[in-house]
Amino acid sequence: MKRIIMCMCLLAAVFTLAACSGHEASTEQSIPKAEEHHEKKSVHPQIKKEPDTSAWVKTKGTARLPILMYHSISEGNSLRVPKEEFRQHMKWLHDHGYYTMTPEEAYLMLTEDREPREKCVLITFDDGYTDNVKEAYPILKKYKMKATIFMIGNFIGHRNHLTEKQMKEMAAHGISIQSHTMNHLELNGLTPEQQRREMADSKHLFDRMFGQRTSVLSYPVGRYNKETLKAAAASGYRMAVTTEPGAASRDQGLYGLHRVRVSPGMSGAAFGSYIQNVMN
Ligand SMILES: [Zn+2]
Repeated sequence: MKRIIMCMCLLAAVFTLAACSGHEASTEQSIPKAEEHHEKKSVHPQIKKEPDTSAWVKTKGTARLPILMYHSISEGNSLRVPKEEFRQHMKWLHDHGYYTMTPEEAYLMLTEDREPREKCVLITFDDGYTDNVKEAYPILKKYKMKATIFMIGNFIGHRNHLTEKQMKEMAAHGISIQSHTMNHLELNGLTPEQQRREMADSKHLFDRMFGQRTSVLSYPVGRYNKETLKAAAASGYRMAVTTEPGAASRDQGLYGLHRVRVSPGMSGAAFGSYIQNVMN
């Protein structure tokens, strides 16, 4: 464990160029070695240290986690949830004591059957629209909620999509940026090699951009096949999410996790019943 913590510290030093203690500084020369250890142990440096799970408790049976799926926070079609509705959804989660997870915490929960609180949720947004920072982020910040945005590598800074600067601002305040591939192509229509490139290139991009080990992939339009599952694992992701409906559990396979689609037209109370039904 000590070695893992040291690896974390070393990687944090590399990525953030933060001043570190004399002890860590003295081991800087061994950084490549530390990174090797890191690979072998599949430890995750995105959060500079592993989540503190010492107070977590066992779940009742295999862990089940609602992974909410939002896209745009605006109006106009079935994928867009209006800001006021989104605000009510977040307020409902807040008022009912839900714990919003990071992807790293979700991974630990799903693989170890332990949870920080009886009610947990992973909030996700696909595609990385600009309204995520303009409309959703202030609400998330107000309630001190964490969330994950699945960004498309080649869409960064494009019209209606987040810029690097916007993502970095959010990443500094509890919003995790994860991968929605490079080009948002339907993966089941690609060769295995093309699929692998879409996944690996976007992972490298986000790893570099955010000094993290990008760990979760969202399949564009929810399309995938057997090769997709293999390629996601081979590209170094720890989990992948689909658009199959329902709460996520590792019984689905860590590369085939289900999500709870949030559609427009739900008040806070309707949203609450929906989430509770999903978990029953
Ligand atoms: Zn998408």
